[in-house]
Amino acid sequence: MPSHTRTESRQQLRARQLARAANTRVPDSPDVIVCGGGAAGLSAAIAAAEHGATTVVLERDAECGRSILATGNGRCNLSNLELSPDRYNDPSFVGDVVGETFLEDTLSFLGGCGLAWRSEEGRLYPTSNRADSVRSVLLARARRAGAVLAGARDVRRVERTSRGLSVTWDESFSDRSATAEARSVVVATGGGVMAALSGLKLDLKPTSPVLCPLACEKAPVLALDGRRVRAEVTLLRQGTVLAREAGEVLLRGYGLSGIVLFDLSRLALPGDVLSLDLLADVPDDAVRRAIELNTADGILDPELARVLGAQTSVAAALEGARRVRLTVTGLAETDRAQVMRGGLANRQFDPRTLGARSVPGLFACGEVLDVDGACGGFNLSWAWRSGEIAGTAAAVRAREEKVR
Ligand SMILES: Cc1cc2nc3c(=O)[nH]c(=O)nc-3n(C[C@H](O)[C@H](O)[C@H](O)COP(=O)(O)OP(=O)(O)OC[C@H]3O[C@@H](n4cnc5c(N)ncnc54)[C@H](O)[C@@H]3O)c2cc1C
Repeated sequence: MPSHTRTESRQQLRARQLARAANTRVPDSPDVIVCGGGAAGLSAAIAAAEHGATTVVLERDAECGRSILATGNGRCNLSNLELSPDRYNDPSFVGDVVGETFLEDTLSFLGGCGLAWRSEEGRLYPTSNRADSVRSVLLARARRAGAVLAGARDVRRVERTSRGLSVTWDESFSDRSATAEARSVVVATGGGVMAALSGLKLDLKPTSPVLCPLACEKAPVLALDGRRVRAEVTLLRQGTVLAREAGEVLLRGYGLSGIVLFDLSRLALPGDVLSLDLLADVPDDAVRRAIELNTADGILDPELARVLGAQTSVAAALEGARRVRLTVTGLAETDRAQVMRGGLANRQFDPRTLGARSVPGLFACGEVLDVDGACGGFNLSWAWRSGEIAGTAAAVRAREEKVR
């Protein structure tokens, strides 16, 4: 299809989405307003609406749930059989929020949306293998529960009022701004600091990207840009082992990429050393035979063997393959990092409700809090579960305020 036709149809699609958003009416004073309609916001909206609250989601994008579509390379790694607080940056806070039944509660929520999944070494994917299945069932459940999903609304301000909280947003389909009041507001705007909250004087942690590749000092193996190897990777700081992960590693001109490196990016600092064992999966007798036969090509990528000096000494090259050392200089491709660390400081929120202690009626969930987890479904699990907790508590508070 010629590119101009594709462009036109994209424009038409956007026009249709904006027209639908413009036709969605936001009630003046719903019980609960959810700011942000990603994984956490949709879960919060479902929980709030199913607890009887009139609920509106204000989403900056033309439609809700689009951030889910890119997850897991379009397959959505929605959870993990090994869910546990110690896979997150703040295990004590996450543990206080999710309690003993993190996995059961998360799967019960996803099952209640009509999703089925299967495990790939503990990582859970929808049986359809498609992220749009996950988005579709969430949108359907939110609508069934009566939540209003209002796209093309960019939240600009959340403020205290005499009756609760007010939320002001800009509409992308008009030049107008609008304001609504609610008894409870759930903030679910994802990673990064939300300027709209600045008037509430909340405690913020500086943000920085995590789950991205690592940049390293120049080294001969990095000349093999684009090559994939299997390796056990050890992260060392001044000789002390910080972490060890095994799996596929992508060699890049600037450093290393792949899920193993994404996970190590949560800990690594400039100056740390990555030590790669490229023979971790190779039996010792195969290594001995390679030395006897004077060729490493049967157990290593021949190009890699050459870079490690196998044409001079196979034994030395194989010894080197057990300890390829690279010095970390920083993070790489941060614009495509999967998660943002930092955001709203966790301890100002009550872990039972995710309500802000200093702003009655304000709740937060998902990545806007200072919670980030390992690759493998941990971040979405936090989004689903924290969303459900915040949405439920927001509805309960709205009901209590009504009867006062
Ligand atoms: C490429 C990629 C792949 C990933 N794959 C996985 C995976 O397979 N498994 C996994 O567990 N995690 C994965 N993650 C991480 C995961 O997507 C996030 O942790 C999760 O989406 C966080 O959910 P959230 O609802 O808090 O934030 P988001 O999903 O980012 O949703 C926030 C929403 O708020 C909206 N918003 C922001 N500001 C405003 C505003 N001012 N007004 C109104 N709306 C606003 C945004 O448009 C967005 O829709 C991936 C991340 C990326 C980038």
